[in-house]
Amino acid sequence: MQVSGYLFAVIACSGLTLSVQTGNQTRLESGNDSPPLLLVSFDGFRADYLNKYSFPNLEKFYSDGVLVHELTNVFTTKTFPNHYSLVTGLYAESHGILASIMYDPVTKKNFSIQNDRDPFWWNEATPIWVSVEQSGYRAAAAMWPGTNVNIQNRTLKYTFDYDPKVTFQERLGNITQWMTTDKSVKFAALYWEEPDRSGHIYGPDNSTEMTRVLKEVDGYIGLLMEQLNKTGLWGKINVIITSDHGMTQCSPQRLIILDNCIIPSSYMVVDLTPVAAIIPLEDISTVYKNLSACHIHMKAYLKDDVPDRLHYKNNGRIQPILLVADEGWTIVKNGGLPRLGDHGYDNTLPSMHPFLAAHGPAFRKGYKMSSFNSVDLYPLMCHLIGIAPMANNGSFAHVRCALVSEQCGELALAVGLVIGVLIILTTFTCLFKLMKNRDVSSPRPFARLELEDDGDDEPLLE
Ligand SMILES: [Zn+2]
Repeated sequence: MQVSGYLFAVIACSGLTLSVQTGNQTRLESGNDSPPLLLVSFDGFRADYLNKYSFPNLEKFYSDGVLVHELTNVFTTKTFPNHYSLVTGLYAESHGILASIMYDPVTKKNFSIQNDRDPFWWNEATPIWVSVEQSGYRAAAAMWPGTNVNIQNRTLKYTFDYDPKVTFQERLGNITQWMTTDKSVKFAALYWEEPDRSGHIYGPDNSTEMTRVLKEVDGYIGLLMEQLNKTGLWGKINVIITSDHGMTQCSPQRLIILDNCIIPSSYMVVDLTPVAAIIPLEDISTVYKNLSACHIHMKAYLKDDVPDRLHYKNNGRIQPILLVADEGWTIVKNGGLPRLGDHGYDNTLPSMHPFLAAHGPAFRKGYKMSSFNSVDLYPLMCHLIGIAPMANNGSFAHVRCALVSEQCGELALAVGLVIGVLIILTTFTCLFKLMKNRDVSSPRPFARLELEDDGDDEPLLE
């Protein structure tokens, strides 16, 4: 946690000197005139779909803005943990939404996508929309995970109850209406279930179905630009389009069947694939030993031994044993393959990464970046809105070059050029002086050295 560092960076980089305390949230003075921000997520939009399929509307969007080819997201690469990381800047172990299915051993509460409204699960972090409202502004949201929950005692005025049947047009229409009729709306979040849904059903290798759904998604991006244009918001507000994770192909030939390795009554499964959360019902070391030897394409970890790089052990909601399948492998208790495409795997896998594109007055035009971390988006969004970030795992320094206000590549290039020219000039001056000296001494190249006068008359060269 480096909150003071981020705060300093935000203030230093934006030239701000004043802040305003509203309730328990600090609002930076420039927040008053910073344009609103719209954050859009297309679930399961794998980064390299951009190279494999055609996106005329998305291309139009980022050619006049910024494209980040790949985001390194957080483990587990599932929908709920990653959507919460995008809006808190925290790893899953720090914000507490560790998976889309959870069990809390202390309160004995259960969490699932269908049962996600209890603030208990969300209150370990403060999402950006809560900070926005605490700063005296308004936030609006259409289906973004968690936005219909009363987090930190805040319920959004402009929100939907989750209903997958509500069309993209309806979600977008409400968002733009809230943003145009209430000028205090500083932040809005819009969520759409595709291409995740089709990726699960058909698998990302089904190019016919993926072409169909990605064309539909690109159409929605066109609709988004059109709607923002119609409502006078296009070019006035900052818009970020991103996703939570990618997708990989699964197969009935790549099944890991737990009941083949261990007595079914000796363990309980909280979440299953591709990361299984296991509660042993008998001696933990025996259960762990059997699961460790279960399959060459699955790793088993005791909670304390989960690798630090995954940031996935320091939370009471992580179960005693964690199983992680290799890419494309599916863990089942018994039975067949549940879906042809899946995500949730190790977050270093490129197939698990989403992309990001941005457009608006704050962003450079036609600027491309190879990657940054999805947790870096949070300090960037706080900077854009003009509110102080909460403690987070992201870094504004990683993302600031996307902004038109930041002196970045150009300054480094200019400094490099000046230093280069100085080095060349100095070298030439030295060489010139050296040559000049040699010219003076050239008439006597074989002269005897006259340094010593020791009586030795032997010539050095003959
Ligand atoms: Zn999914």
